[in-house]
Amino acid sequence: MRVFKFGGASVNNADAVKNVADIITRFSNEELVLVFSAMGKTTNALEKVTHAAFYNLPELTERIDEVENFHFNIADALFDSDHLQINNELKNIFDSLKQVASKPEYAYDEFYDRIVSFGEILSTTIISRFLNERGIMNVIIPAQEMIITGDRFRDAALDWAMTEKLIKKRVLDVFHDQNCNKIITQGFIGSTIDGKPTTLDREGSDFTASVIAYCLDADEVIVWKDVDGLLNCDPDHFANPLKIDHISYHEVVELTFFGAKILHPKTIKPLQNKSIPLRVKSFFNPTANGTLVSDQASSDLSIPFLIKKNDQALISFFSKDFSFIAEDKLSKIFWRLNQLNIKINLMQNSAISFSIVVNDPGKKLKSLSNSLANDFDILYNRGLELLTIRNFTDQLIKQYLTDKEILLEQRSRKTIQVAYTQT
Ligand code: ASP
Ligand code: MG
Repeated sequence: MRVFKFGGASVNNADAVKNVADIITRFSNEELVLVFSAMGKTTNALEKVTHAAFYNLPELTERIDEVENFHFNIADALFDSDHLQINNELKNIFDSLKQVASKPEYAYDEFYDRIVSFGEILSTTIISRFLNERGIMNVIIPAQEMIITGDRFRDAALDWAMTEKLIKKRVLDVFHDQNCNKIITQGFIGSTIDGKPTTLDREGSDFTASVIAYCLDADEVIVWKDVDGLLNCDPDHFANPLKIDHISYHEVVELTFFGAKILHPKTIKPLQNKSIPLRVKSFFNPTANGTLVSDQASSDLSIPFLIKKNDQALISFFSKDFSFIAEDKLSKIFWRLNQLNIKINLMQNSAISFSIVVNDPGKKLKSLSNSLANDFDILYNRGLELLTIRNFTDQLIKQYLTDKEILLEQRSRKTIQVAYTQT
């Protein structure tokens, strides 16, 4: 049994969905759990719906129309004769979305999860029906009925015990009792035990796939992407990317933590814990090998990886009374960062200062400064880039860092990380 994950780019129009159907047809005799993201950029579009609905902005209708037209157009192109059933299903989903959007009676993050989770519900509704029409019989198991989480909205933590129990029960029911060998579910979304919709952090569908694989002791996970596999740099930022054939869990978990966008950083742990291999493959070229991620050592340990994160902020805490920033002071800072869910990308300390580089926390920066103002003078720089080079060489450092206004730098044996002003 394998778990396949198809991201938004793999289903961003009707032809793409047909291509996915062709890929799945190759595995017609195999039990598969198919995890789908929202189609194309739907999650971004629904974030705009959330904003407009929450702040009661006049563009709300237009924002919802955009999402609605996008999905109806794809359905139109996919289903040639009898549209009635799918159109009704989509209409019902949009009625519910409009209902939720009309009553922003929750805190922002909770409201966000209620709206944004419609993206995956829409994609799976269309795809499941299309696959059934193409003769690929499948059953949807709603992720909100098996991915059970806490209530830290937008970044919900998994309730492993509950989730494992439900996944096993629901999946076995379909594979064995209903005798159907294809299950479809939504990535990224889940629900609290009392039924409140939650999400698992942006790009979290990879994590959903790995959770399901873990719970079912799957043989392999395949993440289907629009690239040939894991590349040593993002082709949008760097020239001549190299495809990696085989890489270890350890390397990938480090690279995704540094910001490599190939997989969500949480994806690796469940797979590593059960030695389940993961393959990244291209949906344009499904017979090519892609990249294998496993517990074996990487095939080439010297290839440099370059990873850039934009919109970084450097926050520096200076002790007000010239006392050392020791453990007691640090624990205050960490406690507050944890409370605000601000994650550290890089940190460095000296006698009386402590500096961190984080994804720009926006409005949270003010809450952070206010709450720690008694103990620290806090300075910050925004609009920075954080470049990480794993397996760096002098040549690469020269190539990418000459002329940069560097604000923070850290180097270990293998890795250099540098924050500088974005140009
Ligand atoms: N649709 C969600 C997002 O765009 C989750 C995912 O794609 O993994 O963030
Ligand atoms: Mg995505």
